[in-house]
Amino acid sequence: MFRTGIFLKDEDHDLLPDRLDVKLVLPEQMDESILTAACNLAFRFGMETTGYEGSIVAEEGYAGNAVVFEAAEQTEMVLEERDGIVRVHLRGTGAELEEFTARICETFPQVNGMRAWRDVLLDMADDFCMRNADGQLAYLAANKAEHPGQYEVYGTPEMTKEQQEHFSDTTFYNYKSGRKVYEKTYELPWEVDTFEDILKEEVYPQLKQGDQVRVAGALSEDKKVRELICGKVKEAVEAKGAALSGMELICAYKQGFSWIDEVVIPAVQAAGEKPDRIEICFKPFLPEGQTEWLDENGATPSYYSFNEEDPERWFDLPIRYLQELYPIEDVLVEALGIEREQVVFAAYEGTEELTYLCRAVKGEETYYEASYQAQASERTYMDEYPNMGKVHPSTGYIQVWINGQEKLFRQIRTDLEEIWDIYQAEVLPDCKAYIEQKTGGAPQKELQPFFHELLLDVTASEPDYRVGCREDLISPLDALHEDMYFTGSDYFKNYGIKKINEVLDAPGLILPQIHSGEGRPVFKVTLFEQLKEKACILHGQDVVCEQKERDSVELKISRLSYEKKKIAATVQVSGVEPAVLKAYAALLEQGVLASGEQMGCVEVLRFADARGEICEAKVPQPKKLAKEKQITEIDLHEHELISYEMYREIIEELKQVPGIEVYRTARSYTGRELYAVWLKPEYTGCLSMTKRLTKYPSEIINARHHANEVSSTNAAFILLKKLLTEECYRELPDQLNLVLVPMENVDGAAIHYELQKEHPYWKFHVARFNSLGKEFYREHFQQDTIHSEAMGLTRLFERYVPDMIVDNHGVPSHEWEQQFSGYTSPSYKGFWLPRSLLYGYFWYVTDPEYKENYPVNKKMEDVIADKIAEDEEMTRWNQEWSAQFEKYAHAWMPKLFPADYYKNMINYWIPFAADPAHRYPSIRFPWITTVAYTSEVADETAQGEYLNLCARAHVAHDEATIQMLMQAKQIYACDCMCREERIFARYVRQRPMIV
Ligand SMILES: [Zn+2]
Repeated sequence: MFRTGIFLKDEDHDLLPDRLDVKLVLPEQMDESILTAACNLAFRFGMETTGYEGSIVAEEGYAGNAVVFEAAEQTEMVLEERDGIVRVHLRGTGAELEEFTARICETFPQVNGMRAWRDVLLDMADDFCMRNADGQLAYLAANKAEHPGQYEVYGTPEMTKEQQEHFSDTTFYNYKSGRKVYEKTYELPWEVDTFEDILKEEVYPQLKQGDQVRVAGALSEDKKVRELICGKVKEAVEAKGAALSGMELICAYKQGFSWIDEVVIPAVQAAGEKPDRIEICFKPFLPEGQTEWLDENGATPSYYSFNEEDPERWFDLPIRYLQELYPIEDVLVEALGIEREQVVFAAYEGTEELTYLCRAVKGEETYYEASYQAQASERTYMDEYPNMGKVHPSTGYIQVWINGQEKLFRQIRTDLEEIWDIYQAEVLPDCKAYIEQKTGGAPQKELQPFFHELLLDVTASEPDYRVGCREDLISPLDALHEDMYFTGSDYFKNYGIKKINEVLDAPGLILPQIHSGEGRPVFKVTLFEQLKEKACILHGQDVVCEQKERDSVELKISRLSYEKKKIAATVQVSGVEPAVLKAYAALLEQGVLASGEQMGCVEVLRFADARGEICEAKVPQPKKLAKEKQITEIDLHEHELISYEMYREIIEELKQVPGIEVYRTARSYTGRELYAVWLKPEYTGCLSMTKRLTKYPSEIINARHHANEVSSTNAAFILLKKLLTEECYRELPDQLNLVLVPMENVDGAAIHYELQKEHPYWKFHVARFNSLGKEFYREHFQQDTIHSEAMGLTRLFERYVPDMIVDNHGVPSHEWEQQFSGYTSPSYKGFWLPRSLLYGYFWYVTDPEYKENYPVNKKMEDVIADKIAEDEEMTRWNQEWSAQFEKYAHAWMPKLFPADYYKNMINYWIPFAADPAHRYPSIRFPWITTVAYTSEVADETAQGEYLNLCARAHVAHDEATIQMLMQAKQIYACDCMCREERIFARYVRQRPMIV
């Protein structure tokens, strides 16, 4: 009644009603109470619309939608629908009628926070389709009443222990949990054994007394393992009476870095002079005969870039060998005591067979020069789709000279290459075969997820350490994690395109779990499938009921009545057995159902079908939480990573803090909860969102959409504390509708938290998506999505109609390298290196009719840049990173690594024409949302003080934006005209605001 739809029409599609399509039909004879009730109702309707025309009182013969007042004994509102006309009969008399109408007008249909009765009914419909725990319990109770005995319930994950304990003789399962389909373990040769076996079999037997032996090589192992090998070689050579005249065994991973770090630097140091310049030439990485460097636009990711035209195409970039040097400048500066400018990179243009040529120069004189040839192997990006092109992972080798004569050279496959081969040749095809078998050879997008989890458990002996500059890591295992996850996901996308010409982008969770250990690599693969496809209840062997289609059930409120000062609601139901309704009502009254906590002013609930009433329940009244806590008393974990559990604890405490309303917006696929925090103005009585949104602009700050981008959750809580405690924000709730979402991707956050326990600094992109491995950004505004976490933002958007959405994201805190995918991630080439502590994207609309949106975006860029410039620490980080980005990336491939600065900040301006199906609200609803800004801080994965710094960078731009909004000028279109008993009134805020 008070929502957009039947009585309230939104004709300009700004999500706020602007026309009243209802009149009040008053009886000829009426007492004061009816008049009072009518005034209350008219007032409430007025609160819900931005425009009004005509007279609210119906003239004679009016036949449209109406509230019809009738004097009667029983106080009630009854819905009547006939031929598309809706009439609500408001009956009653005297003080009761006044009270009833006043209570309805003040509280209905709001339940709490953002939830209204429409949401309650939608959830209840889901209950009766057995899609929610409440419904599953009702069906169970109904079945047990009729046929007692043993039951098995395959229910949804939000079902609590307490709910389950209410039932005897019943076993409960989470139907979305996993069950093992197969498990395979691969034990692979260790590259160290291979290296030593070659020596034992082919070198040591040749050695004679007095021989001079030199060995060079590379293995993907850390320094300790390699030193141990060197010691053993020396012993073996000497046991033969020969001498080891030299041995260089460097790391096969990032060979250029390792060579300079372990060979060049000690040699330059030994030369005893401090160089004026270190020159490092690298050979451009190009196929035979190709000299041209192809540059491409890399500002934004390209998700579905499947090019199957050229098997000879190289994924690797021409600067591949420069990339492998990163972050050698820092190591050189530190070890040699020189300045950054004294390290110079150049492309090698000579003709010699080499990868690197390094010189130390003093004055005009080169006093040290050495070259190195790096080894890489060549393979297809994807074995099954060779036409996609080729990649070049690093490989190991051994080279032996005896008495100055080269006797042996051989490449040695690294542990990671062995693992990768198995992954491509067996693991992925096995999983595909499972999908084929399960779907009868006909996979469909709608049948996803096909599996619950593909667990890739790898143990391998590899270097894994922090370099000591910024957040840099040398970790081939971190890279392998990325390679496995992304290539696996590309594999199924490709399979879909090949098989059914559709991208299969949520096949199930592909979860690498990688451990660092010594010795032979072990690769254990386990595939899990979902326990059941849908919720169901079993009695013995028989399925007695199971989840139904949503359109099989219909619910609406047909009557509200006032009985002994209690409001009772009658819900008209079709498509549900009376026994189930009775069971539901009984469980509701006993406080077993979760829905009971969220029924607002309704104290009695009745179910009715076409034949009349069936049953009723007294709704248990939830205890009101005292709002007596200060946010300063809550541990917001400002300096540590926040897990889902920690977030839930903070949320529970925040519910007790005055000045905010904290409420659930959605549940994730696995049943975890999403919350929003609304900085709520302190009013009594009914708060009209229509009027609030008309008067003040609104902003949603969304955090942790990608769950491995960790700092935005910390930022949301730090920001909230500032907003609640700092004087300059005291007036905020009266100037701005501001909502914070501290953790949107709750399932991803849970995956990430587990993974980072073992490897606190890795990137873990697997956790950026949800539990099915799905980017659910594209599920926003899709009402029937199984990725139910996406509904959180959709609902907030409808309720807060935001002028501005700020989505706080992140990027890796260190190099993003994937050696099995062309060294950079194919879809995210431009993201190879962090470019600054904070940068941003403005997704703006290009249509001339929305041209006023752009200046607001521009102003925002400005205030953010100024705010960051004020902070010395952030500026220093920004500058240091931008210098790295320039030196290793942008200077060489400016399009792929774009870096346009505005006041020391990089922002990317991404234009689109308005499009009603677009994923960014500023393009989808440009008349509503003026700015959609994505911020990126380098926080994959940030910990401790650095995490806090990243969070503060988010807070800084959030604060700058909020202050800009608080100072913005609003323009209102306000007309009011009375003529011959007719009123024309309009009060609308024009968008965009003026900043
Ligand atoms: Zn992101």
